[in-house]
Amino acid sequence: MNTIKDTFKHQGQRRLLVKELENKKIKDPELIRALLKVPRHLFLPKDFENKAYDDIALPIDEDQTISQPFTVAFQTQSLEIKPGDKVLEIGTGSGYQAAILAEMGALVYSIERIPKLHLQAKKILDQFYKNIHLLLSDGTLGWPEFAPYNKIIVTAASPSLLENLMTQLVPGGMAILPVGDKKIQKMVLLKKSVDNKISTVELGDFRFVPLIGKNGWTEK
Ligand code: SAM
Repeated sequence: MNTIKDTFKHQGQRRLLVKELENKKIKDPELIRALLKVPRHLFLPKDFENKAYDDIALPIDEDQTISQPFTVAFQTQSLEIKPGDKVLEIGTGSGYQAAILAEMGALVYSIERIPKLHLQAKKILDQFYKNIHLLLSDGTLGWPEFAPYNKIIVTAASPSLLENLMTQLVPGGMAILPVGDKKIQKMVLLKKSVDNKISTVELGDFRFVPLIGKNGWTEK
């Protein structure tokens, strides 16, 4: 169990990281507040604690990664998160992205396919947040029980725009997902108009671990 003292560690390093992100055009005040508050080091294996506030992706268990802080901030800022937004996340991983969204006042529904990661994330997130719900499942199918969502964020590399998932988005909603092959992807911001028309914009190149599932990649 983490103590309150653990959460206050590394505040100076968090401030430096946020300055670096501000220089990379991260400026949403509520996002900045969340980045200053969420203790990223608690979402990582102990061995990487001293690198937790470098702006880099790091390994977590099961050959997966915690996304680079800039990537977390970029996806979050692009979605224009408002308090009360219902957000579906595909790829809980360490749980850090879910914590950032929850800290901004979103109601978060996050899906992970790997049991160990799901359980580890649950252990830490349950200590801090009541507005995060976690599911162990294939996220490419979404979470129809609680649909529709105001925003959808996919944090693993998808081979397609996952049109099936977009039926779980409200009219006027937004989704962000990395689309491409297993090596490199384009970040795509998708908007659903009030009359259900889909438009997309590409926001640059990123690298994620693959999205594995019925509407994603196959395992090998
Ligand atoms: N958002 C995470 C964080 O804050 O640590 C980073 C996610 S990591 C880059 C991608 C995660 O997506 C991995 O944990 C992986 O197991 C998960 N994943 C891959 N395919 C999935 C699927 N079909 N459904 C749910 N999770 C999936």
